[in-house]
Amino acid sequence: MIAPVVAAALGLAATWGSSPGARYPAQTQAVDPAIREASRRAVTDCAAGVEDGKVGAINRSWKSLCQRTPTVPGWDGYRSEKAHYSLTRKGEGFTLSSEIVVDAQPASLPKARKEFMLAQTAACLPVIQQYFDRYALRVEYGFRLKKPVEPATPPNLLTVTDKAGRSHSRNYFFRGLDVPMTLPGSTIKTDGGPAVTCVKRCQAFFAAGGASGCQDMCEPIRQREYCQMMLHEVGHLMGLPDEYADPSCPDQEFISSETYPWSAMAVPFFGLLDTPDILGSGHSIDTGYVEFFPRHLETITLPLCGE
Ligand SMILES: [Zn+2]
Repeated sequence: MIAPVVAAALGLAATWGSSPGARYPAQTQAVDPAIREASRRAVTDCAAGVEDGKVGAINRSWKSLCQRTPTVPGWDGYRSEKAHYSLTRKGEGFTLSSEIVVDAQPASLPKARKEFMLAQTAACLPVIQQYFDRYALRVEYGFRLKKPVEPATPPNLLTVTDKAGRSHSRNYFFRGLDVPMTLPGSTIKTDGGPAVTCVKRCQAFFAAGGASGCQDMCEPIRQREYCQMMLHEVGHLMGLPDEYADPSCPDQEFISSETYPWSAMAVPFFGLLDTPDILGSGHSIDTGYVEFFPRHLETITLPLCGE
């Protein structure tokens, strides 16, 4: 964990603040607990009508309503997505399982680095589970590295690229978000998310001394941002579309305006809203401001409960 004093020296505290109230004044507002209860009920009501131990395989494709200018002949310009998982009726709800095959890129990366990226991706699962526990949904993803030659393309192929960038459901940028942003409730601008900001500040700070350990020093910050990003992207793997307003998707069917809690599918730069403790300075992560809503849980469990 990066020591708060080091973080402060790097100027991170000044950028990201140290008190959730100061950075996110709006978060003093109470979260409506009824949403979480309703989401849990969506699952348990469904489960009550399904025989214990029953397994349902879900293979569903859909097109997201985000029409872009088609760049390939024969393509309609819509992005298609696939949900591929199985649901087992268990306990009060369901266990969702799937194999996620990780293709670490670039291919030339040392094996140890690829294995580290795989391990850190798998290590996000307990964070994600904190959310789905609320809704009686166990998520059991098996993660493995892609073999050099796969007999067939695995349905849940995930590329994890060792660069900063804007992730989407099938390609995670391991080094965090690199989109310039203004922090919520302030005029402070950064070149990217917490991980990119940390590394840049660290490199600037140590430039004179030539220290090269900035990636290591910023690793806890990178990992936290990564797991928060992954929660949203896992929503896509379960069949949920984006719900935030995207100017490049003028034909989007539904845009969430919900707050307290926010929809997990409507928080594009996810970690910013839900991670008051960016610096690991002793506050626990308050995951209470982001939820999956009943409509999301109904979509995830629909194949066993619909109609
Ligand atoms: Zn998304």
